[in-house]
Amino acid sequence: MITGSTRLLGVMGHPVEHSLSPIMHNAAIAHLGADFVYIPLPVAPDNLPKAIAGLEALGVRGFNLTIPHKQAIMPMLAEVSDLAQAIGAVNTVWWTPQGWSGTNTDVAGFLAPLEALGRDWRSTTAVVLGNGGAARAVVAGCGQLGCQTTYVVGRSADKLAQFQQSWQGSPLAGNLQVRPWEQLADCLAEADLIVNTTPIGMTPHPDASPLDAALAAQIRPRAIAYDLIYTPSPTQFLQQAEAQGAIAIDGLEMLICQGAAGLEIWLEQPVPVAVMRQALHRHLGRT
Ligand code: NAP
Repeated sequence: MITGSTRLLGVMGHPVEHSLSPIMHNAAIAHLGADFVYIPLPVAPDNLPKAIAGLEALGVRGFNLTIPHKQAIMPMLAEVSDLAQAIGAVNTVWWTPQGWSGTNTDVAGFLAPLEALGRDWRSTTAVVLGNGGAARAVVAGCGQLGCQTTYVVGRSADKLAQFQQSWQGSPLAGNLQVRPWEQLADCLAEADLIVNTTPIGMTPHPDASPLDAALAAQIRPRAIAYDLIYTPSPTQFLQQAEAQGAIAIDGLEMLICQGAAGLEIWLEQPVPVAVMRQALHRHLGRT
């Protein structure tokens, strides 16, 4: 119930109408009986500074950021966590007496379904497809797991070189190596963990995959194939991996767990992840 003392949370994006975050956050808030409400905050890029000042004036507790604000917000914050600085993006912000503080919970979200497997990752070779924003959280996650090697495979030599350069001297990335797409078959033949961070295969292109049939044939049985995409489920990439005998993980758990990590910061208490999961599964028509 919204009362006179209800505090605001939200997700700021442009566009933001597609966001699933209000559904999962409000389900958890209702379950806890917490006096908060989580709303969409549509903000065009030019309006970001005004919106941030407005949220401060309104006493907003905190908010998430999605495209295109994850980088642009950073100079407006009083404090940015080391992790968010290394990734170069903030997705979770909360108010403190010093001003807005920001971090990135995508790494925690990415890691949650992997940590649930209870493995020792130290001899793992990870292959990351794509070198965009989400790949940065995945690389930090693989570093945190202690993977032996993380190959980042991309189609642009310039962007790959920039990617490698941007992690120079950072212990967060572990043993990071970049490879051109032409060397993907060799990387896959070694891979224990393959993560798709490209948008290839996302609705409305469910028949597309980052891997053609010859590349998919390189996936090792018992490898873990992880697609950050969550619609459709499973993606073509995950279907190819399962046909090879690999374990498939889609991106919904990452979405849920990055959200839960943010809600825990705002509410300063443990949050019911199962309730958030159930709300999204019901919304997406998953059983
Ligand atoms: P991004 O910054 O635009 O990066 C996309 C990457 O994919 C780029 O490296 C791009 O290569 C590469 N790519 C695109 N088309 C390609 C193609 N045809 N062949 C080879 N590479 C291609 O996007 P992002 O923010 O990282 O998001 C990527 C995906 O992750 C999206 O599907 C997003 O929905 C998903 N995601 C999911 C979660 C979650 O919680 N589950 C969180 C974040 C993101 P170039 O750099 O060469 O253009």
